[in-house]
Amino acid sequence: MNILVINCGSSSLKYQLINMEDESVMAIGLAERIGIEGSVVKHQTTGKDKVTIEQPMNDHKDALKIVLDSIVNEEYGAIKDMKEISAVGHRVVHGGEKFTTSVVITPEVKKGIEDCVELAPLHNPANLIGINACQEILPGVPMVGVFDTAFHQTMPKSSYLYGLPYELYEKYGVRRYGFHGTSHKYVSKRAADILGKNVEDLKIITCHLGNGASIAAVDGGVCKDTSMGFTPLEGLIMGTRCGDMDPAIVPFIMEKEGLDSNGLSTLMNKKSGVLGMTGISSDFRDIEGAASEGNEKAIVAIDAYCKRVKKYIGSYMAEMGGVDVVLFTAGIGENSISMREQICEGLEGLGMKIDKEKNNVRGKDTVISTEDSQVKLLIVPTNEELMIARDTLELVK
Ligand code: ADP
Repeated sequence: MNILVINCGSSSLKYQLINMEDESVMAIGLAERIGIEGSVVKHQTTGKDKVTIEQPMNDHKDALKIVLDSIVNEEYGAIKDMKEISAVGHRVVHGGEKFTTSVVITPEVKKGIEDCVELAPLHNPANLIGINACQEILPGVPMVGVFDTAFHQTMPKSSYLYGLPYELYEKYGVRRYGFHGTSHKYVSKRAADILGKNVEDLKIITCHLGNGASIAAVDGGVCKDTSMGFTPLEGLIMGTRCGDMDPAIVPFIMEKEGLDSNGLSTLMNKKSGVLGMTGISSDFRDIEGAASEGNEKAIVAIDAYCKRVKKYIGSYMAEMGGVDVVLFTAGIGENSISMREQICEGLEGLGMKIDKEKNNVRGKDTVISTEDSQVKLLIVPTNEELMIARDTLELVK
């Protein structure tokens, strides 16, 4: 059974075709600049050359047609006929309190996703456009929605409520939702598999450190707390997002800089994080490079980043009453040897001892703690597409 996984952004469409017999990737690609000049699809079938198709695409439906044509292309495609696509799994960013698991897409589900638009105005509309385009081009093929927020719906009220008037939660749904749920779920389960244990028997802290970054406390396979909140802005310092700060800074800066709410939102989401702190880049490779040349702002940004991660590890350990596994995933978590080392430095007193030699690796499942470390430290590459495909298979088979 082949499953197509779709991840739609406002002007992009990422896809993977996965063969569920052996969970192998048959084709992978990306449509970019949809609806603007310079639209392009970059497609690669496993074992064949990468192709770039430059063609105008007015909307996601146009993009999807080109993507599907590429997938069945005689020369560079992966399958002969679209009928070989058994189901489609869609990444949906926000499921609010409505969606606690993945679901088969029905008109009612689409209405539910629409009801969450207010909570994710940039993402959910794009996700809906992708679903509609797929339904038009692949009529009759079952589709599943997999939500970034769903895994975190098990958080207790004490984790998800803010210290705000309760009416704001009742009236507008102001609460913590958490994001990257598909990744946190995948890597926590995978860590248990790697260690030959049941996820139900483990307390795991999952550190998803990418462009966007979040940490989750996963107790017995169930999310108890996570660092992102009402939006993906809360929590860690990220590439361009500020993460936690005193909320009183918001009106203060608005007044001082003469910014409206949009201006401030842009400042906190796009111009902050390590980019804002250093003025160098949002990419940690650039920040690490600058730090190694002695750039003080870069050194401080890295220190602040690692300190924030440590704070969350400590607080989630306290919250769960201990921890068995701390794992690192996503761009920085999987690849940055020095960031992992710096995060773990000084945590020996909490039973976490990193083995510098074992840590000298990028992007593969590895136990990086010493033999005598009480807490297992792991690198677990994330695979959100595979998780989406697995959920899709489970629901349609
Ligand atoms: P996204 O949130 O966009 O999915 P990723 O998980 O792909 O992000 O992470 C991208 C980030 O990972 C890059 O911006 C970069 O900061 C970081 N990264 C990737 N490789 C390395 C590396 N070798 N060393 C340090 N940071 C890295």
